[in-house]
Amino acid sequence: MDRETLLQHLGEEEKPYGAVTPPITQTSLFVFDQYDAFVHRVEDGPGEPYVYSRVTNPTNEIPETKIAMLEGTGACRLFNSGMAAISASVMSAVASGSHVVCIDTAYGPLQQFLRDYMPKFGVTTTFVPGISTEEILDSIRPETSLVYLESPSSILFRMQDFEAITAHCKAKGITTITDNSYSGAIFQQPAQFGVDLIVHSATKYIVGHSDVVAGVSAGSSERLRDLMKSEVPLLGAALAPFPAWLLLRGLRTLPMRMRHAQEAGNAMSSWLQTQPWVERVYHVGSPDYQYRELRGKQMTGSSSLLSFEPVDQNEEWSRRFIEAQRVFQLGVSWGGFESLCVPLQMHPGDWAEPRRLLRVYCGFENVVDLQNDLAQAAAVASS
Ligand code: PLP
Repeated sequence: MDRETLLQHLGEEEKPYGAVTPPITQTSLFVFDQYDAFVHRVEDGPGEPYVYSRVTNPTNEIPETKIAMLEGTGACRLFNSGMAAISASVMSAVASGSHVVCIDTAYGPLQQFLRDYMPKFGVTTTFVPGISTEEILDSIRPETSLVYLESPSSILFRMQDFEAITAHCKAKGITTITDNSYSGAIFQQPAQFGVDLIVHSATKYIVGHSDVVAGVSAGSSERLRDLMKSEVPLLGAALAPFPAWLLLRGLRTLPMRMRHAQEAGNAMSSWLQTQPWVERVYHVGSPDYQYRELRGKQMTGSSSLLSFEPVDQNEEWSRRFIEAQRVFQLGVSWGGFESLCVPLQMHPGDWAEPRRLLRVYCGFENVVDLQNDLAQAAAVASS
């Protein structure tokens, strides 16, 4: 059966009263009617016995089953934010004295977590621009236990060759993690190329309506069992049942929304490339995308997140451009119904100078209205 068909029904075989949607099991704990069942309980996997919703809950297990199917992994857990999923996954792959290799265009707070927070546990990180496999592999040391990837990466959409990197890491017993938020689990399945743990900010495309903050960590049943024994119960960041149910509702329309995202992103990116106020567009779907060979190998589509460098690098131009927008809104995050435009500065290790960029996220509004909005805002900014 096709993944889109499975996505609608998988994990929902038993629903009470003939209800077409599953109930929200809004409970913190589960009680036992037998002493022995309670005393000998094993609570680190999916299914009964449910004990406590900090660890497992039947509502969460429905979307977890579906996302594991989409990602082609044995298992998946939901967390109460993307950063909770990321930090728990990173912690599961390091010990005191470990070294991490991370690309320097990955999501900012993840870099901050590795650079500023993990050293207090004796974990150090080398950041690399991530533009070639060699520079990633050359940074590996005997004590490296984790290679953290984000492909396509935040803002500059750099891609890494999963197969080449994971083949090397597996031979050395090094865990690989990638952030797969950009693809919404629809356009890319990193586990297929050997990545051990796949993390998402489900807040973005998976939830898709800007009303829930949530995260995902997906991987083999063994890896997830380890996560379930330690980071999930001990760090205590599992998603609560009601947001898990909203996330399930988002999943039902995910493939359709991603098709729209691809169409809108391509239309916006090719239009931006014709504009005199645009110096350079970064978009995975562009015909001249820097990583088009890898895109062909690893991805089946591109989304509606892109960025561009304005010709005028003056901050004043960006300020006027953003303030003149009427449909786009100024705000962090992406993946919801509303279009967003944010000013950013990027300075990866391979650039001599920082560059000013604008990240554009196209939501569900009509794409011609979005283009017209940017055109009139650019006219105001340049006047
Ligand atoms: N990964 C990427 C690529 C993101 O853009 C974000 C949030 O913006 C995160 C992870 C963190 O997710 P959350 O905000 O759900 O904690």
